[in-house]
Amino acid sequence: AAKAKGRNQCVRFDAALREQSSQLGILGQGLQRAIRQRHLELYLQPKVALSEGRPIVGAEALLRWNDPELGSISPARFIPVAESCGLIRSLDQHVTDLLCELLERWGDKGIHLPVFVNISAETLASEGFADGFLGKLERLAIPPARVGIEITEGSLLETSHVTRSNVGRLTSAGIPLSVDDFGTGYSSLGYLHRLALSELKIDRSFVAQIGTGRDGAEAIVRAVLAFGRALGLRTVAEGVETGFQCDWLIREGCDQAQGFLFAPPVPVAEFERLVAGWRREVSPPAPAHLN
Ligand code: C2E
Ligand code: MG
Ligand code: MG
Ligand code: MG
Repeated sequence: AAKAKGRNQCVRFDAALREQSSQLGILGQGLQRAIRQRHLELYLQPKVALSEGRPIVGAEALLRWNDPELGSISPARFIPVAESCGLIRSLDQHVTDLLCELLERWGDKGIHLPVFVNISAETLASEGFADGFLGKLERLAIPPARVGIEITEGSLLETSHVTRSNVGRLTSAGIPLSVDDFGTGYSSLGYLHRLALSELKIDRSFVAQIGTGRDGAEAIVRAVLAFGRALGLRTVAEGVETGFQCDWLIREGCDQAQGFLFAPPVPVAEFERLVAGWRREVSPPAPAHLN
C-alpha cells in the first residue's frame, strides 16, 4: 500500500512539475517577446516625506507587463520566471534603459525627482554592470543622484567580489543605494556600514503589523528605525495603507513613506499629474525640493 501511495504521489508530483515547467516555458517565451516588443511599462509610485504637506520627494519604478494575450501579469509572478529562465539580466537592462529615457525627458521638462529602480542580485553580481550603467548616465547627462538603486537585503548578502566591486563603483559615483525589504534578511550593522548605503526600506510585512497589537511587531519597526539612525541612513516605510500607520511612523521619526494611503504605482503621465497637483496644493511658495 505504501508503495502504491508513493507511486501515486510521484505521478501527481510529476504532473505538477510538468504543468509548472510548461507554464514557465510559456511565460519565459512571452517575457522575451515582451522585452523585444516593449510591452513592459514603468509605473511609478510616489515616495513622500513624512513632513508638513507630505511632499512627493521621489518615486520607485515598478515594472508592469501588459501582454496582449496573457493579460496583465504582476512582477511578483514574472520576476521569478525571469530569474529561472536566465532572462533577469536582460530584463534589468531593459528597465534601466526605460528609466534613462524617462529621466532624459524629465530633464527637458524640468522635473528633477530621483527615481529608484529595483535591480536583482544576479545583475548586481555580473561583471561590468556598474560601469555600463554609469556610462549610460554619462552619455545622457543624467546626474547619478537622480537614479537610486534598490537591492533586497538578501542579495546584498551575496558577498561575491564582483557584487562588492559593483556596489562600490555605484556608490562612489553618487548613486543612492537603498536596501529593500529590510528586516527580512540577516545583515549585520558592520557589513551594512561598509557599503555606503543611502536608505533602508522597512518591509511591508512589518508596516502591516503596526497597531495590530501583535506582540513585538512595533518593537521591530522601532529597532529598524534606530538601526537606520545609527548608520546615518534615511528610513522609508513601504506599504503604508492607513492613517494610523502613518501617524505612528511620524511619531517614531521615520523619514519617508510609500503606500496606497498616498498613491498606488501609476503610469508615468499620471505620476506627472500627481506631482503637479501636489505642488499646487502646497504652494505658494513651492517647496525647494520639488524644483
Ligand atoms: P518591492 O520593490 O518591495 O515593491 C513594493 C511592492 O509593494 C510593489 O509590488 C508595490 O506595488 C506594492 N505596494 C506598494 N504600496 C503598497 C501598499 O500600500 N499596500 C500593498 N499591499 N502593496 C503595496 P509590485 O509592483 O507587484 O512589485 C513586487 C516586487 O517585484 C517588487 O517588490 C520588486 O522586488 C519586484 N520588481 C518590481 N519591478 C521590478 C523591476 O523592474 N526589476 C526587478 N528586478 N524587480 C522588480
Ligand atoms: Mg523595491
Ligand atoms: Mg520594497
Ligand atoms: Mg517588498
